[in-house]
Amino acid sequence: MNVDAGNHTGLSGRVAVVTGGNRGIGLVITRALAAAGARVAISSRDAASLGRAAADLEAAGVECLAVPCDVADPASADAMAAAVLEHFGHVDVVVANAGIAGPTAPMHEITYEQWRECLAIDLDGVYLTFRGFVPAMIERRQGSLIAISSITGKRPLYGRTPYSAAKMGVIGLVRTLALELGPHGIRVNSVVPGAVDGPRIKDVARNLARARGISEEEALRPFIDTSPLQRLVRPEEVAAACVFLASDAASGITGEDLNVSAGIVMY
Ligand code: NDP
Repeated sequence: MNVDAGNHTGLSGRVAVVTGGNRGIGLVITRALAAAGARVAISSRDAASLGRAAADLEAAGVECLAVPCDVADPASADAMAAAVLEHFGHVDVVVANAGIAGPTAPMHEITYEQWRECLAIDLDGVYLTFRGFVPAMIERRQGSLIAISSITGKRPLYGRTPYSAAKMGVIGLVRTLALELGPHGIRVNSVVPGAVDGPRIKDVARNLARARGISEEEALRPFIDTSPLQRLVRPEEVAAACVFLASDAASGITGEDLNVSAGIVMY
């Protein structure tokens, strides 16, 4: 048996882009990709926190480019991709992580503007982010595209119709794009986090509690009780899945939606 025990999880010399890399899960993903050896580009709408995140990464010895960008704006997303390609010359990994939670309310009470904003950022934003980098990846016949979906992209969550529609859409986009780009040597996958410990899940619980007339603890409890591991997910665990999918260790994996949900979903 020929077992190659080489290190395939390293990203030395690779260039990785993370949208929403200024804070939250995106910043943890960026740090993990950099720790695996990647040079990184991060983007978000807020230029100030983006600049601070980039300065911290550079202080830690990471080569980092910060490009402010609104992923829901086609011109802004195209300009971000152009700036990254101009700076690094090529891109190996793109993580479309930027996203918003959207409103929590019965669908008929959600305004069209709220619906559009959630779909524009959470679904159009993935399309617009990937679109800017695909031609350069096709040219080099390599690349790994990763979108952050959600368990709400696999099963419903009360009051979250636009978010669920967007995150289910992300999985469809990823599978279809995997079919299109496989012949060009490009892999396309999604990571499907469960409830991730951090400020955002506290907002989600608060909004769910308000919409259902229950306490915040009651709103959060099902995320823990329905998990075989009986806990929330850590952002570092989502980041580890991204590093894996970005690396050659995942060379045979495309069109996959990889659950990091502490077992809440198993499909
Ligand atoms: P945060 O709210 O903490 O961060 C969201 C990030 O997205 C920020 O960096 C924000 O930066 C950026 N962003 C939002 N809108 C835009 C936009 N229009 N253009 C560019 N950047 C934007 O969320 P999390 O870190 O918790 O979530 C990250 C991803 O993980 C999201 O896609 C989310 O749906 C997904 N997820 C999160 C879970 C959780 O429990 N937290 C569970 C499952 C999935 P800025 O505001 O400066 O633009």
